Amino acid sequence: MRGCALVTGSSRGIGRAIARRLAKDGWPVCVNYYQNQEAGEKTAREIRDDGGKAIVIQADVSNQDAVKNMIKTAETELGSVELVINNAGIAGQVLFQDITDEIWNRFFDINLNGARRVIQAVLPDMIHAKHGNIINISSIWGLRGASCESAYACTKAGLIALTRSLALELAPSGIRVNCIAPGVINTDMVQVLGQDVLRDLANQTPLGRLGTPEDIADLAAFLASDQASFITGQVITSDGGFIL
Ligand code: NAP
Repeated sequence: MRGCALVTGSSRGIGRAIARRLAKDGWPVCVNYYQNQEAGEKTAREIRDDGGKAIVIQADVSNQDAVKNMIKTAETELGSVELVINNAGIAGQVLFQDITDEIWNRFFDINLNGARRVIQAVLPDMIHAKHGNIINISSIWGLRGASCESAYACTKAGLIALTRSLALELAPSGIRVNCIAPGVINTDMVQVLGQDVLRDLANQTPLGRLGTPEDIADLAAFLASDQASFITGQVITSDGGFIL
């Protein structure tokens, strides 16, 4: 590797585990957060304490200028962005009939357009280098659909279409694009469901437990590695068999 890895939304949850894992694999990592500065700095500190290299940058992925500035800073401080993990996201349950333009657009602006903005900002360097690796974090709900989560599920289905389209478009430039569709992963995002529902979801999972952020980080590390050098355009589910 010549450059660095950028993991959006790596102050907490899945992104934090991915950032820590990639740093252990030798990647200099750009940690990104939106509001939670303390958590963002903690992730970067943990990486440094483990002997890795990390910087931390605040940026809202729904803001074009913020994304451009983040990439510029990452390139200046850590070298060109060779690996992007589009992980930043929001979730929430809303009845379809209660979805306003504002709610719908917010989901798309962060979960799908956020990834688009980041990819567009890193592509000139990747195309010039004829080398790059993009991993989008979708969801099993993007594959299957989810009651009361239509906006969320549409953004995650959009990430799958984006992955496959870009894999085709960017393969001649030596850039791989893949997607991870996690099942129910025990992070802050799902705590709103309550412990009873989370227990039920674990019981409904063939492997009998919720996923951990580290389960997803291991898969991301594989896709980021040369062991996956012939894999592009794939959507890989890590869900304990939940949607089988
Ligand atoms: P989480 O614990 O809620 O963490 C979300 C992360 O995204 C935080 O680092 C947050 O930053 C960041 N973020 C939110 N809005 C942002 C914005 N506008 N700009 C930049 N960063 C932003 O979520 P998670 O469970 O780790 O989920 C991570 C990804 O996996 C999401 O895309 C989610 O949809 C997907 N996923 C999760 C599950 C699950 O069961 N947990 C399942 C399938 C897919 P702050 O700390 O600053 O708020």
